[in-house]
Amino acid sequence: MTKTRVAARLRALPPYLFARIDELKQEQIKKGVDVIDLGIGDPDLPTPPHIVAALQEAAARGEHHRYPSYAGMLALRRAAADFCRARFGIELDPSSEVLALIGSKEGIAHLPVALVDPGDVVLCPDPGYPVYATGTRFMGGEVYPMPLRRERGFLPDLGAIPADVAARAKLLWINYPNNPTAALAPRGFYEELIAFARKHDIIVASDLAYSEMYFDDEPPPSILEIPGAREVAIEFHSLSKTYNMTGWRVGFAAGNRELVGALGKVKTNVDSGVFEAVQAAAIAALSGDQACVEEMRRVYRERREVLCGGLAAAGFDVLTPRASFYCLIANPPGFTSLEYAGKLLEEAGVVATPATGFGNGGEGFVRLTLCADKARLEEAVRRLRGLGKT
Ligand code: PLP
Repeated sequence: MTKTRVAARLRALPPYLFARIDELKQEQIKKGVDVIDLGIGDPDLPTPPHIVAALQEAAARGEHHRYPSYAGMLALRRAAADFCRARFGIELDPSSEVLALIGSKEGIAHLPVALVDPGDVVLCPDPGYPVYATGTRFMGGEVYPMPLRRERGFLPDLGAIPADVAARAKLLWINYPNNPTAALAPRGFYEELIAFARKHDIIVASDLAYSEMYFDDEPPPSILEIPGAREVAIEFHSLSKTYNMTGWRVGFAAGNRELVGALGKVKTNVDSGVFEAVQAAAIAALSGDQACVEEMRRVYRERREVLCGGLAAAGFDVLTPRASFYCLIANPPGFTSLEYAGKLLEEAGVVATPATGFGNGGEGFVRLTLCADKARLEEAVRRLRGLGKT
């Protein structure tokens, strides 16, 4: 008798929805089509030079070549706390309320190891970053999707969560600025959420990966600015998009010390921290001149005008982002998201992501990113123009 090699938790993962788009993309490339890939949320801009220089300098120093501390260098946790004070006006104790992460994804995936027991309910936005649900399922938790609807500004309706689900829920994920909808949450929503969480004794995990990528409004708040949040919330920060550092793998968690400590305990058992030279670069990023972040916003603002302005003028139902670099387009009637993404690829050579890749709640939309230069985005608009009224 042969044993099944792969664990049930892996076999139970939903099929990889992007595989079909990848296949179609490869077909187009084989045919010689100059494919414009607006499917991936990965900045094409380089990491600012002062951050690269900090890595180079630190990498040459032998003291950084050894195992790092699990929680991150105190200097990095201080820099993170200082950044949060300057940006959000919040006070964090670097030694107990801040934890370095190997990218925020690592912390997001590991949080359920610290908090979720088999059968616990975890409330996850739908559509949402898939790691919230996957991390939950890996721990035997039960995912309860919170639909994000356009007519509600893509905010979950907390009042629609049944009382018995709220009673069993252990953890709730939110993410504003949001991937994939680009929605922002007003302060009032966070207040409502904290009251809900305290009433039902639910931990709130807020994913703030896109906090600095905003274009028009006031900067998005941190949940930790809200009175009472420190009792129930943990927040995930990332340097990836703010400083074009996706490949470097560094972020941090901040918030309730028991939650930060529990996540830290998981990490001491599964990893050995972030390379100290990368931590030195992260310190340079967080405590250095933030002009590079303003420049990043300027570039995406310009690109947004090219792509979203161009598509809206061509008759597309396009949701122009006020934050993040994601731009949703509503499917025309008669198309599923997957079919519509296929059509854009086959007829215009433009890769879009079906928003159903982020959950069934994404049906009705495809997602484009602003991760290509203006000339490529202009070319994408030129090719897509004819499809705007279909
Ligand atoms: N959260 C959201 C909503 C994301 O879209 C991403 C990456 O795309 C992450 C977290 C993870 O970012 P990182 O692990 O690079 O910090």
